[in-house]
This record gives sequence, structure tokens and C-alpha cells, in this order.
Amino acid sequence: MERFLSRYPQFEQTIQQALDFQGIGLHSGAAVTMRLVPAPAGSGIVFRRSDLDNFEIPATGRNVARVSYATSLTRQGVLIQTTEHLLSALIGLGVDNLIVELDNLEVPILDGSALPYVSAILAAGLKLQRRKREYLRILKPVEVREGSGATEKFIGVYPGDGYSIHYSIDFPEPIGHDAFIGDLEAGAYTDLIAPARTFGFKEDEAMLRDMGLIRGVSDGCAIIVSRTTPARPGSVLNGPLRFPDEFVRHKVLDLIGDLALAGRRIWGRVVAERAGHAMHTALVQKLLRDRSAWELTHRYQNEDEPQPALPPRAENPSAALEWQHI
Ligand SMILES: [Zn+2]
Repeated sequence: MERFLSRYPQFEQTIQQALDFQGIGLHSGAAVTMRLVPAPAGSGIVFRRSDLDNFEIPATGRNVARVSYATSLTRQGVLIQTTEHLLSALIGLGVDNLIVELDNLEVPILDGSALPYVSAILAAGLKLQRRKREYLRILKPVEVREGSGATEKFIGVYPGDGYSIHYSIDFPEPIGHDAFIGDLEAGAYTDLIAPARTFGFKEDEAMLRDMGLIRGVSDGCAIIVSRTTPARPGSVLNGPLRFPDEFVRHKVLDLIGDLALAGRRIWGRVVAERAGHAMHTALVQKLLRDRSAWELTHRYQNEDEPQPALPPRAENPSAALEWQHI
């Protein structure tokens, strides 16, 4: 069990300057160039297909498409695949507004974690914006279950302070059972979650390729484990692991990325057991449908907490007023 450490500003953020990434899609195997572009306050995260006349797909639960081994968005037949690691990095760093330009259908997998995104964004710098961040505050439990007994999959979101996540996994050996608990609102996403890489079993590779998946997989973008070797970490074929519990940390990373599709940062407590992308996004959709289960609200800062250092905007008195009530 580990706790997150730092705090987030209560104002929306974007990035200081555009950032470029090149790589391949994990599932499509397609080469892709991705550009992250600063966006105005209140605009949210919007994907843009530069190869399709800049067609835009906002990152919201409304646009969730096929979800099995990755989360994809679709609108009017246009697809964006494998959004979860990038969205996780954006939530983890508190980036609220961004345009994500892609010249192909899939976000690049890079090293299989969120660390390359996080490192590049932190190097470029975050930019505070003149708008208080709105949170999706959970008012009552919303749960999704699938199956029953020892193999039941479960995910639920509950009222609570911060954004706490309790994730349990139960995979075949050598991964086995593990659990992680942390509070994202308290910080340290960069150190504890972002470096955790995606993973898969060597024995499943042929089946997944037959399904048209993991065409871009390599030793450099995923942890490959094998069921046929007995104890970890020796059973990791391309070790070493970045954390002894890297697998469950990656599930936390995925969960944060998938819950980003609620469109606002969650204010509450999330519990997930043996879940995956389909369960994560099913929870988002059930939550968004139940308008009595949440409210959009600002957080109140403690009086002793320093205010963000931003220049006053004298030409707009109402905007200046907005700063007073936090
Ligand atoms: Zn993942």
C-alpha cells in the first residue's frame, strides 16, 4: 500500500507549448505522429484526426466505441484507438484542456506506460488557466458487476474525499493476486503510476494477433510474461519490472485513463476488482446516465493554502471576481 503525496491546483490547466510524439499503435501496428496542442479553458480534451480533415472527437463517455483490450472512441464512423494511457497521463498531471492531433487511428504506445507523456509534458511545463476546475463529485454509489462467484468482476464509485482508487487483480500465475490503493488527488502519479507498463501473456499472443490485435507489440512496449515459468520475477520474459507490483499499478493507470471519459475529474472513491476497459467504461456510462449520482462542483481551497500565482486580468472585472471565491 502506498499513498500519493502532492496536491493539485484548483484551476484548469493546459500545456505551455505544443509537443510531438512519434510511434506505432499497439493494436494497429500503424505508424503515427501525435501532436499535443494547448487549448483554451473550458474546452476539455479533444482528439483530432489531421489525416481526415481535422475531424474532432471529444474524449467523453458518449463517444466510447469498441472496448476489449483497449479503449477506443468513435464518432460518425471515425475511430481513435487506445486512448487510455494518454488520458491517464493528462488526468494524473491535471491537464484539463488539450487538442490531441493524430495522423492515424491509434495513439502511439511508446514504452507501454504513461511516463513518456508525463515526462514530455512536465518538461514543456503546465499552464494555469483562468477557470476553476469543475469536479464530478460522486453523491451516491454506482456499481457494475459481471459474472459471479470467484470470477466476478466488479467496479464501483462512491462518495469520498480526494480521488482514491483501490484496485485488486487476480490473473493466472505468475501475476497472481495483487492490490493497490492510493489517492490521486494527493499527488505522486508521476512516480507511482505513470511508469507502470502494459502487459500480456506470451501464450495469448497468437490468439490476439488472430483477432487483429497487438500488431504493434514488441519487447519495448509491454511486459511479456509466461504462464509456463513458475515464480516471478523470473517469469517476466523481458524484465526487469519497474515495480514489484507493476501489473496492478498499470491497471490503476488504465482505470484513471478510462474514467477520464467522464469528462471531469472524479471526486470520490473507486473500487475495482478484476476489472478491465469494458468494466471501466461501462461504469462511466452508467454514472453519466444517473444524473442523481453526481454533481459538477468546485473544490474549496483551505484558507492557508497559497493561491495560484497568475497575473490579474484588469480588463475583465467579472473574471477577476471569479478568483475571489474558491
Ligand atoms: Zn493499459
